[in-house]
Amino acid sequence: MRVLKFGGTSIGDANQIKKVVNLISQGNSKIVVFSALSGITNLLSEFVKQVNFENYIVSEHIKLIIKERHLALSAELLHGTNFIKIAQKKITESLDAISQFTDQKIIGNDVQFVLAQGELLSAMIIHLYALEQEIDTVYIPALNFMKLNEYREPDYDSIRTDLTNEINKYSNCNLIITNGFICLNHLGHIDNLGRGGSDFTATIIGNVLNSRVVEIWTDIDGLHNNDPRFVEHTIAIPNLSFDEAKELAYFGAKVLHPASITPAQNRNIPIILKNSFSPEDLGTVISEYTLNKELKAIAAKDDIITIKVKSGRMMQAFGFLRRIFEVFEKYQTSVDMLTTSEISVAMTIDNSIHLNPIIEELSELGETQVVKNQCIVSIVGDYTQNQNISFQNIIDGLGDIPIKMISFGASKINMSFVIDSENKIEALNLLNKCILSNEPCLINKK
Ligand code: ADP
Ligand code: ASP
Ligand code: MG
Repeated sequence: MRVLKFGGTSIGDANQIKKVVNLISQGNSKIVVFSALSGITNLLSEFVKQVNFENYIVSEHIKLIIKERHLALSAELLHGTNFIKIAQKKITESLDAISQFTDQKIIGNDVQFVLAQGELLSAMIIHLYALEQEIDTVYIPALNFMKLNEYREPDYDSIRTDLTNEINKYSNCNLIITNGFICLNHLGHIDNLGRGGSDFTATIIGNVLNSRVVEIWTDIDGLHNNDPRFVEHTIAIPNLSFDEAKELAYFGAKVLHPASITPAQNRNIPIILKNSFSPEDLGTVISEYTLNKELKAIAAKDDIITIKVKSGRMMQAFGFLRRIFEVFEKYQTSVDMLTTSEISVAMTIDNSIHLNPIIEELSELGETQVVKNQCIVSIVGDYTQNQNISFQNIIDGLGDIPIKMISFGASKINMSFVIDSENKIEALNLLNKCILSNEPCLINKK
């Protein structure tokens, strides 16, 4: 069984959907995961925000845009009156269901309920279109099997049992369609796997079914060696190890959800990134192997907060770091990067939900300083193998950009720097020239 996932960028309009359905209608048995149509989850999220600001005129307008987009798509794709009626009914029901919140704040699980409508509608419409094309296909809603445990992690055993039971009901069918992103939490409420989480849906399914491969189909020909949104002439990397891909996804390569590598890695299932707009491109293969051991790519992660704790008591004290980390553990906030000196510790976090109580408690341990709007730039690949590029080259390559923190040596495939977010694009471009295009490093430090 193959698992394929098509992101919103691959199903933006009727023509793209027709191409995708043509692609998946061929070949052996497969389960296909669909995200919401491109931009819909953002609109649903904006809808929640506007309702909560009591901007009801704006929220109504957003709801109308969402409804019209799905109705227009169904009208373009479907021709049989029955199919059109089913689609129209489901679209109306879905939009009516989120209307129930328009005179109250949308909080807690109601937010996830609203966000789920995008994936519920896209998979339903694509399934109807495939049926109308007389393709033998079945729709298994993700809410029938995708579950989180009380720690908000996938409940693999229950997912395996429920998905296998569902699939067994349709043993003759070669094409199963399901929704990405959405799931149920341990209390049975609608939840999700985080923004961009359809990639994670696909690899969780790959894991529980022990699939041959997981294919992530998107709008670009693979994982590129730098962020194509900010750097020109980036190129797709043919091959990455699971660990390299994990570092890149975690540190900003948006094309893959950071959590999506582990479920495939745990079962040694290759992930292939493919371009829906150019299926013949080779794409990027992520597996346990890495063919050339060298620096592979640069990525950057925004919205980083650095926290520094300075204390005279740290001097020769044991247990000090433990007390600091207990604070982060208490507030379920993970630390991405860490550096220490004899009198202070600097850390980065990317989640500010509990920032205030964290700062309050850290202040009891030492003088605490917080800096927002930071960015982590990561260089990924085996730098110990690279004869031509030294750590010095990279520091020089960043020119005059002030480096706030450095992480080097913990892993031989990642070195990272913290800089101000406003310098991100310049840093990505400077490092691109220096590391990836073999141009001499710009040494212009004053
Ligand atoms: P999908 O809708 O298929 O999930 P995403 O928008 O989540 O697509 O991811 C694809 C986008 O990721 C690309 O269009 C590209 O702009 C962006 N991206 C950021 N960093 C990288 C990278 N290193 N390699 C490839 N794409 C990247
Ligand atoms: N539709 C969801 C989002 O936009 C999930 C995904 O696209 O992977 O975050
Ligand atoms: Mg995505």
